[in-house]
Amino acid sequence: MLKYVNKLFSLKTPYKTKESDELFVKAMAQNCKYHYDHCEEYKRILDDFGFSPESITHMDDLSRLPFLPTLYLKKHPLISVKESRMTVKASSSGTGGVKSYVGLNFGTLFRAFKMVQRVAKYHKLRSLKPTRYVVFGYRPHRGNQLGAAKTAYLFTYLAPAFSRSFALEWKDGSYKLDLDDIKEKLIKYASGKLPVRTMGFPAYTYFLLREMKEQGIRIKLPKGSMICLGGGWKQFYAEKVDKQDFYALADEVLGIDDKHIVEFFGAVEHPILYTDCKYHRFHVPVYGRVIIRDVDTLEPVQNGKPGLVNLLTPIFDTMPMLSILTDDIGILHDEPCECGEGQWLEILGRVGIKDIITCAQGAEEMLKTVMEAL
Ligand SMILES: [Zn+2]
Repeated sequence: MLKYVNKLFSLKTPYKTKESDELFVKAMAQNCKYHYDHCEEYKRILDDFGFSPESITHMDDLSRLPFLPTLYLKKHPLISVKESRMTVKASSSGTGGVKSYVGLNFGTLFRAFKMVQRVAKYHKLRSLKPTRYVVFGYRPHRGNQLGAAKTAYLFTYLAPAFSRSFALEWKDGSYKLDLDDIKEKLIKYASGKLPVRTMGFPAYTYFLLREMKEQGIRIKLPKGSMICLGGGWKQFYAEKVDKQDFYALADEVLGIDDKHIVEFFGAVEHPILYTDCKYHRFHVPVYGRVIIRDVDTLEPVQNGKPGLVNLLTPIFDTMPMLSILTDDIGILHDEPCECGEGQWLEILGRVGIKDIITCAQGAEEMLKTVMEAL
């Protein structure tokens, strides 16, 4: 029984993060010990680093806990339970053709479910009004293990679905993008009464909005409509637009103001729901913590400075992914936010993408070195 882990995911307020530090540390220590005892490969890694799960007693100890790069996990999935006990398997689309593999069991899913309910309540994402969903992403398919498709589908349960449309449809053995079909549906829905919720990749949403603007199409979606963004810009970082420009475009073309645009951040290896507040900042929720690491030394940097994003959570009991090092470059901010919540994470971009910030250059090399050491 992972008592402290379950307690953490039962917290009712998703952003009283500072107040939950003590519980978070206990949950991490418990989760670490569990994986140490159940996954030989993980035990070997911790032993190699001379790290003992019992030594986690304070928040600072978590920065010493060996982290696993997501790139490493893609090549060496570590598993702490019998594979037959996993109820759901998900994988990330991956860049360069390497997919991450993540298996979930009932305990992990139940924690995720509770987290989503709390976060959705806080951000007022739940509604009883029948809603038309327009997903800028994949329609789930039997052969499709993509985490993004599953997450997007789960979202269509936050308000009862009157209809569901997908921009990526499975046709003749592969996914085909059909933005024209989505455009026609949006125009049709604008004259109806039911609210519309779009969700999915920001790049696809943006491409469609830009096209509609160029074609001189201006509609006003019914009251209560929302734009939900998730999954990041991925291979479209070069076309990433300034948030304010994006909001202005959505207002102009669909008649949706920025208070009805919500963005999510997360990773298959770190399925914690980061949701932007009404001032569009990703506050760190109680279920996870973020450490930003220097790209050369991998030591934690001061808040306010950019570095590699290291994400921590004890949510999994299937795989030892307590502390993962992503290839995202980000900043952890301490400045107060108008919404009243605490620390927030800003994602600047991804390692390997030019023109983001200079610190991305050293990071790629460093990640390779870490992988060789594991
Ligand atoms: Zn805020």
